Amino acid sequence: MKAVRFDAWKTRPALVDVDRPVPGPGEVLLKVAGSGACHSDVALYAIFDQDIAMPQLRPSYILGHEVTGWVEETGPGVVGIEPGTAHMVYAARGCGHCASCARGEDTLCDNVASMTSLGSGLGLDGGMAEYMTVPVRNLVPLEGADPIKAAPLVDAGLTAYHAVKLALPRLTSGGRTALVIGLGGVGQFAVQILGEMTAATVLATDIKAEACDLAAERGATVVEGGEDQAARIRELTGGRGVDAVFDLVGTEDTIRLAQSVVAVRGRITVVGLAGGRTDWGFYTTPFEAELTGTYMGTLEELHELAALYRAGRLEVDITPFALEDALDAYARLETGTMLGRAVIVPHGTVTVDDAAVAADAEAVPVAG
Ligand SMILES: [Zn+2]
Ligand SMILES: [Zn+2]
Repeated sequence: MKAVRFDAWKTRPALVDVDRPVPGPGEVLLKVAGSGACHSDVALYAIFDQDIAMPQLRPSYILGHEVTGWVEETGPGVVGIEPGTAHMVYAARGCGHCASCARGEDTLCDNVASMTSLGSGLGLDGGMAEYMTVPVRNLVPLEGADPIKAAPLVDAGLTAYHAVKLALPRLTSGGRTALVIGLGGVGQFAVQILGEMTAATVLATDIKAEACDLAAERGATVVEGGEDQAARIRELTGGRGVDAVFDLVGTEDTIRLAQSVVAVRGRITVVGLAGGRTDWGFYTTPFEAELTGTYMGTLEELHELAALYRAGRLEVDITPFALEDALDAYARLETGTMLGRAVIVPHGTVTVDDAAVAADAEAVPVAG
């Protein structure tokens, strides 16, 4: 079968022919429906190396940690999973027996130091391929919902859901305000999930006008950038400040904006991977405000998110690509010219709407 394999640090992945995997005990063989191309894949092959990456992410393996598909075959000992049914794949893979894993928090596994991978497509073979094997525990049922559009929920959607869920104590009273900074895939989910799960006023900002328009359609109040942006945001909160800020960018500038608008006892969640740093001191911060980060989400939360999606409560923006064009999808991701999540569709025919992707921007330098 064809697969997109990441073979060495600072080298682009390659489309290769490999043997179709065989499901072991407690596993299924999944026929991949959709596989999202994630920005963290680009970080994996273009930015990381043995000095800065966690050793569990060391190549070589098939990429793809944002995967949905249909059960093709069940391995020994698997009961109650019907061939042909559609599922999402919870990508994180902890030790399976610590207290964190017992709660479905494989992302926070107590024994990560002794693990040889972080999950499928993250050290283990993932779903940027025609087929992959998955432990039944990691399957989340989609029932009749569209599995191709569901792919971005597995990581981008789950990341937004987890960040919002952890901030809910700040947002459940009346008159609360949330702010979403950065309206790419994760930010669009954050806007929708805040609308579904809270009564808060949702403010949103991004430098791209069309991303702002989309968020506005989904119920957010857009605050444009500019010199007095923080003052305008504070005004919209009646001067109180924002109860929960979600920074999906994570640069020094966006964290500073978050700090300048957060309310007393507010919460700033930095989700974006830009690596910005900030000063955080007693006198520079409203009383009892907190600054935290989040990483993906739990297996139980993916079940909860799937329920929202199955009920038709979430819009997902995707640009589909054939598996043969996966490297093209990554190239467009590198240049920042992708609108909506690039989802690789290995089976069936895919027509890419060229109007949805602008070409010819400068690519980040990667060897190979
Ligand atoms: Zn990802
Ligand atoms: Zn564990």
